[in-house]
Amino acid sequence: MMVQYFALKRQAPDCLLFYRMGDFFELFFDDAVAAAETLDIALTSRGEHDGAPVPMCGVPVHAAEGYLARLIKGGHRVAIAEQVETPAEAKARGGSKTLVARDIVRLVTAGTLTEDALLDARSSNWLVAIAEASGGCALAAADISTGTFEVGEVVASEIDAELARLGPSEVIVAEGSPFEAMIDPALLCARPTASFDSGKSEAALKTLFGVATLDGFGDFSRAERAAMGGLIAYLDHAGRGALPLLRPPVQRRRAAHMLIDAATRESLEIARSQSGSRAGSLLACVDRSVTGAGARLLAADLSAPLMDRAAIDDRLALVQWLHDDEGRRIALRDTLRSLPDIARALGRIAASRGSPRDLGAIRDGLGGARLLRERLALAADRPALLDALLPAFDGHGALVDTLTRALVPSPPTESQNGGFIAEGYDAALDALRATSGDARRAIAALEAGYRETTGIASLKIKHNAVLGYHVEVPAKHGDRLMVADSGFTHRQTLAGVVRFNAPALHEEAMKVAQAGGHALAAEQAHLEELLGEVAAAKDRITAAADALARLDVAAGHAVRAVEGGWTRPGFADTPCLEIEGGRHPVVEAALATRNERFVANDCGLSRENRLWLVSGPNMGGKSTFLRQNALIVLLAQAGSYVPATRARLGLVDRLFSRVGASDNLARGRSTFMVEMVETAAILTQATPNSFVVLDEVGRGTSTYDGLALAWAVVEAVHDDLACRCLFATHYHELTRLAERCDALSLHHVRAREWKGDLVLLHELADGPADRSYGLAVAKLAGVPPHVVARAKSVLAKLEAGREKTGGLAAGLDDLPLFAAALAEVEDEKPDALRSELAALDADALTPRDALELVYRLKQLA
Ligand code: ADP
Repeated sequence: MMVQYFALKRQAPDCLLFYRMGDFFELFFDDAVAAAETLDIALTSRGEHDGAPVPMCGVPVHAAEGYLARLIKGGHRVAIAEQVETPAEAKARGGSKTLVARDIVRLVTAGTLTEDALLDARSSNWLVAIAEASGGCALAAADISTGTFEVGEVVASEIDAELARLGPSEVIVAEGSPFEAMIDPALLCARPTASFDSGKSEAALKTLFGVATLDGFGDFSRAERAAMGGLIAYLDHAGRGALPLLRPPVQRRRAAHMLIDAATRESLEIARSQSGSRAGSLLACVDRSVTGAGARLLAADLSAPLMDRAAIDDRLALVQWLHDDEGRRIALRDTLRSLPDIARALGRIAASRGSPRDLGAIRDGLGGARLLRERLALAADRPALLDALLPAFDGHGALVDTLTRALVPSPPTESQNGGFIAEGYDAALDALRATSGDARRAIAALEAGYRETTGIASLKIKHNAVLGYHVEVPAKHGDRLMVADSGFTHRQTLAGVVRFNAPALHEEAMKVAQAGGHALAAEQAHLEELLGEVAAAKDRITAAADALARLDVAAGHAVRAVEGGWTRPGFADTPCLEIEGGRHPVVEAALATRNERFVANDCGLSRENRLWLVSGPNMGGKSTFLRQNALIVLLAQAGSYVPATRARLGLVDRLFSRVGASDNLARGRSTFMVEMVETAAILTQATPNSFVVLDEVGRGTSTYDGLALAWAVVEAVHDDLACRCLFATHYHELTRLAERCDALSLHHVRAREWKGDLVLLHELADGPADRSYGLAVAKLAGVPPHVVARAKSVLAKLEAGREKTGGLAAGLDDLPLFAAALAEVEDEKPDALRSELAALDADALTPRDALELVYRLKQLA
């Protein structure tokens, strides 16, 4: 057995090996230790290897899915080694001691899951492959639970942004390639370079899609073919030859979507909040979809807003059609809610893991879609997108009818016990069932007969896996049936009962078994056939599933808009951003739970007034204002209504959002370095159509450096990039920039001091903030009064210094004068001399130390 085990283990060295033994999957050695720890199950041992006991643990086969889910979550891959012959077959092959042959039938990895129990219904599950060839670089991504498959070229510096858009579960790269170092080790899977060969990949793709040329799908570069090839080779490896559902690859055009890099996604908390959870993200706040497929499509929409005005307006028109008519909206959502997830059911069917229940899902999903179509086709003023979607629900009639006739109303997940083919579908099957039913009834009748002939009222006919049908009597009556001419043959004596067989019973039991066996075989054959029929229609079914998801997303947007009083955004040809009554949807929702009101604010950027410098006290609402405008842009281009009373904008090609380093300490990197790297990315990548949001950039370093950098960055954004930008800062000095930047205007968040306390109004006003409220905020935050008092006196000195120099940033050359003011403050400190003397240990001084001390004290004096 160990020889067989090690041979299997060598085939999947990076996986935990689930080794099938009867009703259990067993794990051995390090696998057992790792699994026992992740699953919190008992670690035992079995036999010895090299003189040491072999660690072992096991999970029951019937409950394996739950354990698999936890192992995959825990970052493991699992190889499933099944018995591929029965013990009887093994015996026939090589004698009674022959080991049952086993084979790895499948690898279960985070990126190749199809089981509902292992997947989150509301998120996509991306498997990504990255490859380079001929100096280019490409990224292919597939969600095999639904068959979505896309590919596109990327520049190396945008790989992070792409990965952030997709949030993959697994990333495949070639062993030894430069990508290996770039990918999070928890996601990385390095594969042999040969599997990324672009020539072989082309052949594999042609076979997979049954085409003679790939030209119909797009004009793919060598790098794109290599990435797709690497991905397919991995799927082939994981599925042990059984390739899952994949649709033809969609070639991603870079210009089709708004580009959003990884740092921006993080800062705007689009799909995940800063803590990493879905809760608190924009997605969670917007999502009102009622189907898993709708939730997945919404996530994809929000992570890749459109650049095509016509397409955006199409989406918005559909949202409006549902927004403006409550009855229509409610009816559509009620229908959608009742439909099963056909995309995922189809994914399992295409991966040869389809069950009777999946067929039932296809039947109900397509059937529901057909009814929906009939209803929607009657509706008035149908928007163009709806008319484009409806045909996807046609043409499934024959398949739905077949499935309806073939299947029982709610088919089981497991097929081996039968019972899923409906009566009346197959006369032969019905006859077999009737025979077996008759025989069962005959057996029931036998029980009464036997009781009568033997006079044992407690006699029963029972069934179990070992004996099949048998007669059972309490032990005290056993002897009466043991006699030779009783007509009963003794089978088994247990503590309380004795069991017998009888010829008539045997005969009926044979009928049940035979007819039952044939019926099961007939059901299996029908299952295969139906699965094949569905798989053959997969393209049309996929189109229907996509259309349902699109309707769900639109209806969800409509509901969200009604809930929040949102408005339909309009678009302009010039790079403007005009928002009236804008709100931050996530902050607003959070405030609402505390019964607090969100203060709406306007924003008005245009070519001539494209850079707003926002100052004001900490906690005044600067970040919130910046982000709400970025989110409104993102929502608008994703085809959603927006949280504002009016919104109009020119399309944004790239969105950037950066937060000053000190807010990001948790990342544990050299934060100022990160801040500067990210800022550099903006300065090199933004175009005049981009929208840049910079929040306290420059504060990750000392005051002078930070101020100087912030100053230079604002100048560069204003003069060179000439794009729309909101810049929040607490450097009052930056307001001087208004004098030399004509498209820059000054704004501040309002605050008021009331009876010595600070009241933050969260209201945006024109002009610079009249003063800094740092000390008031410190007091608000509970800094001890004597510290605040000391800070006040330091501030007074600094401000006096500023008066003298005409302001800190009158020119950067003047900065040393600020230092002089600080020195003055230090001079004031009374305790420098005293603390030096207090720390002195006179007895321990050498003559030389003493001399040095005198010089030091002289300096302090
Ligand atoms: P800043 O960036 O100026 O330090 P934030 O934008 O982080 O301030 O806002 C601080 C807090 O103030 C937020 O967490 C929120 O609770 C509240 N806040 C911000 N903007 C508003 C607003 N427009 N209306 C109501 N409360 C707001």
